[in-house]
Amino acid sequence: MMSHHVFISGGGTGIGLATARALAPTGARFTLVGRDGARVQSAAEEFESAQGVSCDVSDEASVNAAFEAARDRYGTIDILINNAGITPSAPLHCMDLATWNQVLAINLTGAFLCSRAALADMYAKKWGRIVNVASIAGLKGGPYISAYCASKHGMIGMTRALAYEAAKRGVTVNAVCPGYVETDIVTKAAENISSKTKLTEDEARAMLYAGNPQGRLIAADEVASAIAWLCSDGAAATNGAAIPMSGGEI
Ligand code: NAD
Repeated sequence: MMSHHVFISGGGTGIGLATARALAPTGARFTLVGRDGARVQSAAEEFESAQGVSCDVSDEASVNAAFEAARDRYGTIDILINNAGITPSAPLHCMDLATWNQVLAINLTGAFLCSRAALADMYAKKWGRIVNVASIAGLKGGPYISAYCASKHGMIGMTRALAYEAAKRGVTVNAVCPGYVETDIVTKAAENISSKTKLTEDEARAMLYAGNPQGRLIAADEVASAIAWLCSDGAAATNGAAIPMSGGEI
């Protein structure tokens, strides 16, 4: 792989940061974006060619400004990883509209805005990769996560549609669909469950991964290595896929 410019939303933590680490040996240059500019900037410091840029993916102007900053520093975009996401949970009958709208705005509209901003570069070069970090919740339901499930099902629908549009232009669009991954999201979910039930945090974590037949949390590195493969030339025939990564759960 040449020295590609990789734009990663939510790139300062968890799966996004693990993805940058997985792609770094290819000589890639990175624009890592996230809401907390200082955090993404400090994450960027571990890489030879990387910058951190503050960006709220749900805000059109903020996304366009981040892409401008990305191109100013490292040129056109070759690879986009739509990874930013939030996971509030509540029974649907108790969910307020603001939460519902925010989940869709960040998890789904954010991926739309970033994809739209990146595609012209990829189409001009007749080469590009978009990898959407969806979830097993994009392929099946689960209690208390209706907004999250809707956003991730939507993301997979967008993946499949855009894959058709991009197919003859050298660009592939795929999704990875992990079960519960060992990141801040799981730590917060376990704390939340533990605060609302009699379960300890360890018991709450075990409950989260009970659906995974391998009976374990997935490592961020495992997700990152699948993403890195999807970004390689060898994955050129894989387009519109939604790859489950949950030990055989689906
Ligand atoms: P994480 O909390 O470390 O990462 C989420 C990132 O998104 C953070 O860096 C956060 O700052 C960023 N972000 C949130 N809102 C944003 C916004 N408005 N604009 C820009 N950035 C924003 O957790 P993670 O597990 O690494 O999550 C990454 C992705 O993986 C998410 O889309 C999540 O839905 C998905 N996922 C996670 C799991 C899991 O169990 N951890 C499982 C399946 C899918």
